[in-house]
Amino acid sequence: MPSPAVITVAITGSQPTKAQNPAVPIAPAEQIESTVAAFEAGAALVHVHVRDAHGQPSSDADRYAAVQEGVRRRCPGMIVQFSTGGRGRQAAERGLCLKHRPDMASLATGSVNFASAIYENPPAMIEELAQTMQAFGVKPEIEVFDLAMLYNARALVERGLISAPAHVQFVLGIPNALPARERTLDFLIEELGELLPGATWTAAGIGRHQLTVNRWALARGGHVRTGLEDNIHFERGRLAASNAELVRRVAELCAEHGRRPATPAEARALLGLAGAPAGNA
Ligand code: ZN
Repeated sequence: MPSPAVITVAITGSQPTKAQNPAVPIAPAEQIESTVAAFEAGAALVHVHVRDAHGQPSSDADRYAAVQEGVRRRCPGMIVQFSTGGRGRQAAERGLCLKHRPDMASLATGSVNFASAIYENPPAMIEELAQTMQAFGVKPEIEVFDLAMLYNARALVERGLISAPAHVQFVLGIPNALPARERTLDFLIEELGELLPGATWTAAGIGRHQLTVNRWALARGGHVRTGLEDNIHFERGRLAASNAELVRRVAELCAEHGRRPATPAEARALLGLAGAPAGNA
């Protein structure tokens, strides 16, 4: 029996612009439409960033709520995950969206250099975000951009700030952070198994590494992430037409590795989430 793989679609992110790829959804209505198409192509989880009216990264909780409302109405059972990531956003505002009780939210468990900036996640802020997530019943997706973040995540579980079983995402291929190397992923998976038994994991490859990392994850029993946040191209020299196009390719790739896309209900069971919230028709 092919085992189900949860496909995450990261629809927007904080960086890509319409000038780079017109398919990047920016306004909440566009984000909802893009998510619906990705859902129909096989995505069971949507990772959401919002932008302001000028297209800049935003922490506007109302915009997060609007996207969530549309996704819940149009994509039955789909898991909604808000970003609490920091690029272009004030630290104090990064958790404001959690009051809307998405199923999940991202939680980076350390600081790291990116290509030209520091992605700053001081310990006190990580703890506060983790506590807020617990208070609102939001499951964190632990974002591992660099090795120490994995050990920090275990410490947070031990201290009761993150509930077990944890869910971890390994992000590979960001300049100055973890490289997209297969043996690096193997090491991370092995460490995760010892540090956080029973944890689930997914992997994201950034830019040209996206599809390669998808293959590595599928071959190792992990879950996968695609979408325009991480990569605006379908292949070298050709922009992706939509988030759905990227999702469709990963959904088709599953069979090569004895996998199939998880349904939303399967994805919820695999990640230990409750059934679809009320209003999620
Ligand atoms: Zn993100």
